[in-house]
Amino acid sequence: MRILLLGFLLIMSSAVIAQTPTIESGVPLELAKWRAAHYSDVRYKLNLTLEKMSPVLKGTIEIRVKVGARTLLSASSQGGEIPPIILDWRKVKDHEEKSTITNVTINGKAAEFSRHSPRADKSVRAPFEEHNEHLIFRDGVVFGENVIKLDFTSPILTSGSAITRYIDKEDGTEYIYSLFVPSDASTAFPVFDQPDLKARFTLTMTVPSSWKLVSNTAYPGSDATGYKKWMSQDVVGAINAPGEWITTTTFAETKPISTYVFAFAAGPFEKFTDAGIGSNPSGNERAPLRSGIPTGTLPTGRVTASAPEGSIYVRRSQAAKFKPHAAEVFRLNREAVKFFEQYFDYKFPWPKYDLVLIPEFPFGGMEHAGATFLRESSIIFPQEPTKNDHISRATLIFHETAHQWFGDTVTMRWFDDLWLKEGFATFMAYKALEKIMPEMNAWKVFYERVKQAAYQTDSTRGTTAIYQPIANLSAAKSAYGAIVYNKAPAFLRQAEFYLESDKFQTAVRAFLKKHEFANGAWQDLVKEFEASSGRDLNVWARQWVTFPGVGVVSSFIPSELCWMQKKDRNSGNVWDIRTQALLRFEDGSEKVEEEIRRPTSRIGFECTPVRSTTDKRIVFGLPNYGDYGYGIFLLDEKSRDYVLKNIQYEKDPFLRTMMWGALWDSVREGELDPRVFVELVVKVLQNPAREQGRNKGDDSNALTNVRASATEDESTTALLLNRVGTAMNYYMSEPPALAGGQKLGPGPTDGPAANAARTDLRSRVEDMLIERMRDAPTLGQRITFYRAFLSIASSEKARGVLKDLLAAGGNPSGSEGAPKRSGAPKGTLPTGRVTAIAIPIKTKDRFDIVTRLLILNDPDAPKLLADLEKTEKSDDAKRWAYAAKAGIPTAENKAKYWNDFINDKTMSESWIEAAFGPFNSIRHSDLTLPYLQKALRELPNHKRSRKIFFVNGWLGAFVGGQRSQEALDIIDKFIADNPNLDKDLRLKILENADIIERAVKIRAKFGR
Ligand SMILES: [Zn+2]
Repeated sequence: MRILLLGFLLIMSSAVIAQTPTIESGVPLELAKWRAAHYSDVRYKLNLTLEKMSPVLKGTIEIRVKVGARTLLSASSQGGEIPPIILDWRKVKDHEEKSTITNVTINGKAAEFSRHSPRADKSVRAPFEEHNEHLIFRDGVVFGENVIKLDFTSPILTSGSAITRYIDKEDGTEYIYSLFVPSDASTAFPVFDQPDLKARFTLTMTVPSSWKLVSNTAYPGSDATGYKKWMSQDVVGAINAPGEWITTTTFAETKPISTYVFAFAAGPFEKFTDAGIGSNPSGNERAPLRSGIPTGTLPTGRVTASAPEGSIYVRRSQAAKFKPHAAEVFRLNREAVKFFEQYFDYKFPWPKYDLVLIPEFPFGGMEHAGATFLRESSIIFPQEPTKNDHISRATLIFHETAHQWFGDTVTMRWFDDLWLKEGFATFMAYKALEKIMPEMNAWKVFYERVKQAAYQTDSTRGTTAIYQPIANLSAAKSAYGAIVYNKAPAFLRQAEFYLESDKFQTAVRAFLKKHEFANGAWQDLVKEFEASSGRDLNVWARQWVTFPGVGVVSSFIPSELCWMQKKDRNSGNVWDIRTQALLRFEDGSEKVEEEIRRPTSRIGFECTPVRSTTDKRIVFGLPNYGDYGYGIFLLDEKSRDYVLKNIQYEKDPFLRTMMWGALWDSVREGELDPRVFVELVVKVLQNPAREQGRNKGDDSNALTNVRASATEDESTTALLLNRVGTAMNYYMSEPPALAGGQKLGPGPTDGPAANAARTDLRSRVEDMLIERMRDAPTLGQRITFYRAFLSIASSEKARGVLKDLLAAGGNPSGSEGAPKRSGAPKGTLPTGRVTAIAIPIKTKDRFDIVTRLLILNDPDAPKLLADLEKTEKSDDAKRWAYAAKAGIPTAENKAKYWNDFINDKTMSESWIEAAFGPFNSIRHSDLTLPYLQKALRELPNHKRSRKIFFVNGWLGAFVGGQRSQEALDIIDKFIADNPNLDKDLRLKILENADIIERAVKIRAKFGR
């Protein structure tokens, strides 16, 4: 049997070898599969030189690769045609001349460009060609190990390249870092740029001696390599002073890693080390620094708490600001490592774990193996932080730490399975939050932050399955979005509930162990799920992983609970959901029903008999209690009425936020008037529940609890106020005219009465926010109200409050009366004087306030900004000032900014990203409508040249800046006129257009 199989594979192999894939640009899946079948044991030896202010990276690379069918065959036994070696080597648009290749050898023989290329030298025996972003070696390749050596240069830019230079305008220092995900390593040097050709990297770097270096592994220390002096002027250039000292450093070889998690950063960083994370009392369990790296579990099979060495690198000008955060960031990181080691039963996989804070980093973080890069402003809060900010920072750190196992140790085979690593990283981050910060109510926050965004995308026409086929890595950036970051972890939470948590954990551990330092696909994970649960999960898994969309489940409660699931509008699917429901009866008793919802021939209509309690009337039923299921669960009418009347008395904050969520779903589905929702939020947030409760004569202890949970819950408050903003900006009337009598665009068709009612509600929302900014008992609460106010404020009174805040910002002590922590907060002091708003206003807040005033066309705004710019000169302040001015509501200004966005090639992406929000304020939709179609036309350019999340942000801003049928028509026409637009871009447009579609529908229905 075994021999027969071998023979069969031999035939297969030679057949595959004969068919070298066609050479297309990018990294096509076909090429990647072919390479994975023919190449193995890849090693890169990189020698890089970074010179101050040099526009290029200079280096040499030695590439070792075994050629021949990957399995079964030794080199000598293989016959037939030798497969070529095909490397990826891509040039950056408009900077092609900076990418060069010279001194190429293959297996010791010089290789020149082949006769197909303009630089042909027909006399050379080992030519290679450069074709469609690949270097192809056909001659000189042998079965077994091959060694290619070459010199290269590649661009270092402030924007648009894989190696980025950041110049700190405060002190003139320079920082250089790499960011290769998903397949940009091949723009820095020739490489096999696919996740399943994992390689061992050995990196040697020569940099100015005053710089620090970080890469995936540790290095032996500078004394081992010694110092050299810059010798030649052509290397030094004009900027480096001749005689400046340089250092050459060699890092230890990595374990096999994918190209996209290889990284380095260099510059005059300050290095922070943690006594806790670096020290190791027991002395023998710490992962060693260099080689002899430990693999996974200890011989006993049990992991012990290890302490991988770890430092945090911060740019020099921000080191003092980071200092107060250092202990907490180290703690979060250390606790996360400890928790994951236990949960996965797998020791920290890398020899050390550093964090590098990168200014204006395009993502929250990137999980390079052993060296996570984090956006500096996500760690050093630019504003006074709230609980929400602390949750964001913690979950970011946990997410990246979880990736060290899920993503870095076991990697998806191809970016179609991106969801595997991102889903696990976020799901595990919340598990860590639950354990490390139990006071944050992790799964409630998961419901509020992760689930809501998933539903929001998944209920649009632009949604995709969590598994997204990708034919070429040039399109991989499009896979990033809410489906991968939000739905995938939501599915894993459902899977854990479906399988039961111990079986889920067993499967995850097995998956990791089986595919360590290699790759796995989603089917491999499902195999482990089946093994641990003993169930056939093929149909269930295929449905969740490969079908797009979300089930919309309606409830009916005659005498028992019935659910009906609508067929999905995208896929026609009916989802197999396992979850539980809460039933509350007229006497106040409760029952939790657990049911498996399988698709049925009757379109998913199923009833849960309410056993043993049939004599009691159900007053309220909440489907998906505990939030294990994934779906939009609409309340029946009776339960909705119950929630509208009783939500402020609900004691359980998780249940309460699910009630709010169900009401909001009703608004989004067009079942509930958005005004009713906004009125209820105003009522609940402005009136202490205690007072309403007293009127009702309920138990006083319980009501104190209600008040306490309602006021402390910054997470829910922020979410509710965000929904109020959406309702007012999109689902309700046109916003009122701008200050100074300027009215942008035609008004709504409704009459003066509706206008007055609307103004009344808007001013009541403002008043409630002003009141709570003053009297909410915690600083975090007050800041939460302030941030909502900032995005809603529009009346003259509100603008006055903003200006007061700005003026008081110089005196942030709030000596005028920060309210006491306990006791009934009141709007006035005993003297009867209104309390000042006690919120520390930092530089970022000042720019935010001025931005809002500019958007509102406040006559004082330009002067306030000019004053601010005189005193605030930091890098960040310059960016914020630039962004603020994008909010000036004139056609000339919008034209100027549009020109910057499109034509200024030197502008860094972070500046554009900061500015396109104020540019597209919903209040300026008439001014920006002319740019909508142009913005859509830019998408293919952005997709090609910008970083991963840029397209999403761009679309969110330009489409989200509109709310009219006219805008929708422009979008539909654009899609109709461009049938050849990439499918992923078309879907992204449809996803973003959903907010306008709903807005138009809801306004038509509720007429205000
Ligand atoms: Zn991630």
